[in-house]
Amino acid sequence: QAKRDGFGTYRFYAPEMNEHIASRRVLEADLRRALQRGEFVLHYQPRFDAHSMRITSAEALVRWLAPSGGLVRPAEFIPLAEEIGLIVPLGEWVLHTACAAAVQWGTIGVSVNVSPAQVRSGDLTATVERALRETGLSPDRLELELTEGVLLEDTDRARDTLAALKRLGVRLALDDFGTGYSSLGYIRRFPFDAIKIDKQFVADMATTRGSRAIVQSILGLGKALGMSVTAEGVETAEQLMLLRLDGCDEVQGFYASPPRDQAVIAGLVQAQAPAAAGGPPPPLEHT
Ligand code: C2E
Ligand code: MG
Ligand code: MG
Ligand code: MG
Repeated sequence: QAKRDGFGTYRFYAPEMNEHIASRRVLEADLRRALQRGEFVLHYQPRFDAHSMRITSAEALVRWLAPSGGLVRPAEFIPLAEEIGLIVPLGEWVLHTACAAAVQWGTIGVSVNVSPAQVRSGDLTATVERALRETGLSPDRLELELTEGVLLEDTDRARDTLAALKRLGVRLALDDFGTGYSSLGYIRRFPFDAIKIDKQFVADMATTRGSRAIVQSILGLGKALGMSVTAEGVETAEQLMLLRLDGCDEVQGFYASPPRDQAVIAGLVQAQAPAAAGGPPPPLEHT
């Protein structure tokens, strides 16, 4: 799967404790430089309408093209970027770049992951507003993905920021739903338009009754609250079939498409353009 993603191996952490601390410092310095040097890249994973399998939007996923030549996954640097405050300028770059990509694609939307630290920073709304203005993207084509961490903080600032973002006209999605610790009651206290079912539930929904039941109840909750629901991490035809049966709106995952670069998405969107008049959906892509 690492190969399929295009990731190389990249080890930051040496076995010895001293080396661990040293390599962490090196990583910190490398990360700060990476932004100045333009070493971050965005890949985009298309999201499909579960029935027509047309692309409705794409999620921006950041990668670091490290000087060593390796492509580094976000799990290896986002936590540190959050810790050292780099996530704010990095997040701003991601927002701007993703909005510009959506303008270039023309029709589909774009989703951007936002860290709790960005919400806490206090200028997320201004940053989003600026990205929209500078790229000319219509706000309704931008969706921000937030995790339950934001809900757990439950501060006035988080609440005010989310309300201000809604006033801008952007969509808000609750990412990795079902993996956090917040109670269900939180969900209705925030203005979410959409829920993304975490891939851990999708992974074994075909083989484990409990997982399918959880997926079904999230779908029911979304429907009842008027939110659209996306299933993440759809890897097999069987999962897709079950999700369709259970009434899932949209799907994302390796089965339909892994994250790809901006130009590939542009090509996929262009290829499906004629179908807007009601033609057949494009064939699934297997890479
Ligand atoms: P996420 O937002 O939940 O993104 C989905 C992750 O699942 C991505 O991992 C994606 O490549 C992976 N994925 C997609 N389809 C499949 C599948 O069928 N099977 C499996 N097993 N995995 C699949 P990725 O790109 O490594 O990103 C990991 C996380 O890093 C993201 O989770 C998100 O929380 C965070 N992240 C990525 N980009 C950004 C960013 O620009 N800003 C912030 N703050 N966080 C980001
Ligand atoms: Mg996400
Ligand atoms: Mg997710
Ligand atoms: Mg995640």
